Amino acid sequence: MRVRLSSRGGAPAELLITNVHVLDPRAGVDGLHDLLVRDGEIAEVGAPGALDAADGVESLDGEGLHVFPGFVDPHVHLRTPGREDEEDLESGTRAAAAGGFCCVLAMPNTEPVVDNAAVLQSLQQRASIEAVVPVGFLAAITKGQGGGELVEMVELAREGAAGFSDDGVPVADARRLRQALQYQRLCGGVLALHEEDPALSADGVMHEGMTSALLGLAGIPSISESTMIGRDAEIARYERGRLHILHLSAAESVAAVQHAKEAGVEITCEVTPHHLTLTDDVVRSLDPRFKMNPPLRSEDDRSALVEGLRSGVIDCIATDHAPHSREEKEAPFEQAPMGVTGLETAFAALYTDLVIPGVIDLSLLVERITAGGAPYGLAAPTLARGSRANFCLVDLDAGWTVGEAGYESRSENSCFAGRELNGRVLMTVAAGTVAYRDRGFAIRLAEGTVFAGRGTNR
Ligand SMILES: [Zn+2]
Ligand SMILES: [Zn+2]
Repeated sequence: MRVRLSSRGGAPAELLITNVHVLDPRAGVDGLHDLLVRDGEIAEVGAPGALDAADGVESLDGEGLHVFPGFVDPHVHLRTPGREDEEDLESGTRAAAAGGFCCVLAMPNTEPVVDNAAVLQSLQQRASIEAVVPVGFLAAITKGQGGGELVEMVELAREGAAGFSDDGVPVADARRLRQALQYQRLCGGVLALHEEDPALSADGVMHEGMTSALLGLAGIPSISESTMIGRDAEIARYERGRLHILHLSAAESVAAVQHAKEAGVEITCEVTPHHLTLTDDVVRSLDPRFKMNPPLRSEDDRSALVEGLRSGVIDCIATDHAPHSREEKEAPFEQAPMGVTGLETAFAALYTDLVIPGVIDLSLLVERITAGGAPYGLAAPTLARGSRANFCLVDLDAGWTVGEAGYESRSENSCFAGRELNGRVLMTVAAGTVAYRDRGFAIRLAEGTVFAGRGTNR
């Protein structure tokens, strides 16, 4: 199975960034360098002051800034086709680029669902015109994500589907999942599972715990997720299949994945920035911006997720970027739809809440936020010489208020809205072309006072 990534491309980047801190944990690079990009490729990573800009190469002073390999988000909802009022391929990938992402994988729960080759091809076609960074598209596991008949997995794999997922809902019928794993043997492609036992989640709207009891709201227990992971890992072991578990939220789920990995199951998993940084305590506000599925859980769950990220039980970070229109999201908590945006805040939220307080190292964050392609067989971006340029330029010291300058996304249902965060992406290069420049950064460049205003980049 070969994942097809589509984007509109652009002029190959020609850049020299001098005296910049390059951090590429996978390559063991962590220090000051000059970085030269020619014709969209990493031409040289040299000692500071060693490289000169040739004609036609834009020179940037990187003092005090960091360059990381481009982030990869394996789980976004671009709402296209069907709900382009909430997000489209252009706005969604612009939001990705603004967050430092050089590649995203989109979920198929659109209108119509991506459950046949025609819908998949038309999305790939649209992305080749509209997408600012490369996008891969997953196809559904069952037709219409209805949990019944399987999609034509072999054909969809041939057309470059990134994988298969009924995300939004679980594959409730164990026999159906088993069948899909049997087809996986023919066509490859990971099955990405939204794990939730509908009988246990029932009509819950938040995590089942002290806070839900206090608020008198119906809860979704942690075991709704972990028991399904246990079931599906067993089926995958039996069928010798390959699973990727979406958005882990509970301590029991981390334990279930760890157990499966130790038993030799081919299983990977992801965690979102909001589950790593927030708990159900914030739901006391009854602000629908804190309503998502799976829900924010307890502090014990949150710390188990952080520990899972650190130990490697959790492979990568994914935003589960889920735009919703303002009208829909402004409903009372119980009625509001589940989901939050996340592309533009992922790095800064994790840097601010986990790296600055010393909970995890910057290199671990960079490693896990660039690892999202691996479960789908995509190589991680690298700053190695000769590779396609995929990186972001970040000012770690720059503070900003989420939402104050608006969003690139068409929706604004961010659970970090109004938060003061540190770490601002100034530029993203994706697939060899400059996909994003921070507005303030572009202005300062034009004025010839590059980086003079650091820390006031709002
Ligand atoms: Zn989901
Ligand atoms: Zn999702």
